[in-house]
Amino acid sequence: MTAFHTLDDAGDIKGKRVLLRVDLNVPVKDGRVTDTTRIERVAATIRELSDRGAKVALLAHFDRPKGKRVPEMSLAPVAGDVAQVVGKPVEFCDDCIGETAEHAVSSLGDGGIVLLENTRFYPGEEKNEADFAAALAKCGDIYVNDAFSAAHRAHASTEGLAHLLPAYAGRAMQEELEALDKALGSPKRPVLAIVGGAKVSTKIDLLANLVQKVDALVIGGGMANTFLNAKGIAVGKSLCEPDLAETARRIMTEAASSGCAVVLPIDVVIAREFKANAENETVPAESVPADAMILDVGAESIAAVNAWIDKAETLVWNGPLGAFETVPFDKATMACARHAAEVTKAGGLVSVAGGGDTVAALNQAHVADDFSYVSTAGGAFLEWMEGKALPGVEALKKV
Ligand code: AMP
Repeated sequence: MTAFHTLDDAGDIKGKRVLLRVDLNVPVKDGRVTDTTRIERVAATIRELSDRGAKVALLAHFDRPKGKRVPEMSLAPVAGDVAQVVGKPVEFCDDCIGETAEHAVSSLGDGGIVLLENTRFYPGEEKNEADFAAALAKCGDIYVNDAFSAAHRAHASTEGLAHLLPAYAGRAMQEELEALDKALGSPKRPVLAIVGGAKVSTKIDLLANLVQKVDALVIGGGMANTFLNAKGIAVGKSLCEPDLAETARRIMTEAASSGCAVVLPIDVVIAREFKANAENETVPAESVPADAMILDVGAESIAAVNAWIDKAETLVWNGPLGAFETVPFDKATMACARHAAEVTKAGGLVSVAGGGDTVAALNQAHVADDFSYVSTAGGAFLEWMEGKALPGVEALKKV
C-alpha cells in the first residue's frame, strides 16, 4: 500500500469534475511547442481519467507572468499539442477560475477534457491564497496532482487545493514517488550516491543529507576539488571554493561517524586551457601542478567508482564527474553512466538519477532509458534528495 492516495483510491469518477494539476511548462518558440516530453509524461493520467468518464480540467502554470494576464504566456498554444499527444480532443478555456471556467468544466461531456488558462495569471496562485484556492476548487469535485516537478512549491494549485477537495496522486506522480522511495526511502543496501557538478556551495544540504543515509558517497566534478583542498591537497588553478574547506571537513567527519565511505578522486585529468580537445594528461590527485586545472577524473578513479557501482544495490546520482560538455573531459561521466546502465539492465542495481545536467549527461551517454528512473524534475528532485518535505507531496499523504 502506498503512503499517499492514488487514482486506485478514487473509486467511481464517471461524470465527476476532476481538477488535474499537470506540468505544461514546455518550451514554446513562435507559438509552437518545441518539445512535448512534459506532455507525454502526464498523458497516461489524462487518458485514464477521461476513459473512466471524468470531466477532466487541466490546471497548469506557464512561465512567470507574476500574477498578471500576459498574452504571450497564455497556455492556448499548448492545448493542440496536448490533444495530439493524448489522442483526444482538448478544449481551451481562457480563465482558470470564475463563471467562465466553472461553465467550461461543467459543460464537458463525460470523458471530455479542457485546458484552463495559466494559473499564474492570478497573484493568489504563487501566494497560495485561500480565496484563490477556493475559487479553483469551485471548478472541481476531486483534485489530482500529476506535477511532481512543481511539488516543492506550496502554491494554490499544487498544495492549497489538496486541502479543499479529495486529493490523489496522478500516475506520473505515483511513478516518481515510488521510484524515489526505492532509492532513498526504503532502499536495498548498500546505497551508493554519486554527486558531482560544479560547486559545493550549491549542494551543501544535499551532501549533509546523503552522508546520513547512504553507505558510500562518490564526490566528483568541480566540487571534489574543494574536498581535496580541504584535505590539504593542492589543486592548482582548478575550480575550488577554499572558503568552504571547513564545511567540507565537517561533511567528511559526519560521513565517518555515520559509516558512510567518502570516495574522492584518486587520479585526475588536467589541462592548462578549458576548451575542447585541450592538451591534457592524467596525474595522481596529489600531483596537480600550480598552473593546471582538473577537468575530469582519471581511469583509476573511474575503476573505483565502477567497483562501488558493482557493490551497490541502489544508486542515486546527481551531477557530472567532470566538465562533460567539453571533450575529452566527458570520459568519466560517460564511462560510469554506461557501467551503471549495464548493471541496471542486468538486474543488479536500482538506479535513480536526476537534475538538469545529469539528465543531459545521461542522454549524451545514450543510457537515460536504461536507468531504473530518471527524474526530469530539477528543483523538486534536488529538494527531495536534500531530504526536504515537498509540500505538494505532503498534501497527498494518507493520514
Ligand atoms: P551542477 O549544475 O552543479 O550539477 O554542475 C554541472 C556543471 O559542472 C557542468 O556544466 C560541468 O561542466 C561542471 N563541471 C564538472 N566538473 C568540473 C570541473 N572539474 N571543473 C569545472 N567545471 C566542472
